[in-house]
Amino acid sequence: MSGTTVASSGDLLTERNRAVSRDSQRDALEDATVDEAQLQQTEAMAERRATAMSALGQAAQAEAQRVAANAWVLPVASYRLTNRFGQAESYYASGYHTGLDFAAPSGTTIKAVAGGRVTQAGYNGSYGNKTVITLDDGTEMWYAHQSSIAVSVGDTVAAGDVIGYVGSTGNSTGPHLHLEVRPGAGDPVDPYAALQQNGVTP
Ligand SMILES: [Zn+2]
Repeated sequence: MSGTTVASSGDLLTERNRAVSRDSQRDALEDATVDEAQLQQTEAMAERRATAMSALGQAAQAEAQRVAANAWVLPVASYRLTNRFGQAESYYASGYHTGLDFAAPSGTTIKAVAGGRVTQAGYNGSYGNKTVITLDDGTEMWYAHQSSIAVSVGDTVAAGDVIGYVGSTGNSTGPHLHLEVRPGAGDPVDPYAALQQNGVTP
């Protein structure tokens, strides 16, 4: 009797061990499945990140190339074009609007459209706080009505550098950047056309 008892007890133990072993295998299988799913998820995430980084890298590279080529950039990131060049405007001595107006909230950063040297920076009557940047070819770019100026005369700036902040100083009815383009420091030309000719459409 005792032999049978021992034997059956042993069988039971073996059976339990097998059951435990099966459970372990199932757990291991489940673990493997979870690991595989996690791995795929991680790989997909890494791939997405790599794609994003690559796009970011390409954008940075394109921007660097534009800067290297002294290409023009838009002066304000988010804006609404209001007054165009040539519109009749009695309060300017010329009788017409001599620039292009980019309406944007006061304090919005103004970037240099093109690289050059700061040749004027200060208050200038109806233009309010005005900065003049002279390009290598002698073209002057005027940035008017700024709330504050971030550069000084003699500074060299690259396209895209922050030069000041949008405001409503001088003869202005609301915060905006008044941009003028004056080839050879002479009469103003249409900034919209000048920007387009240099690869940027405002
Ligand atoms: Zn204007």
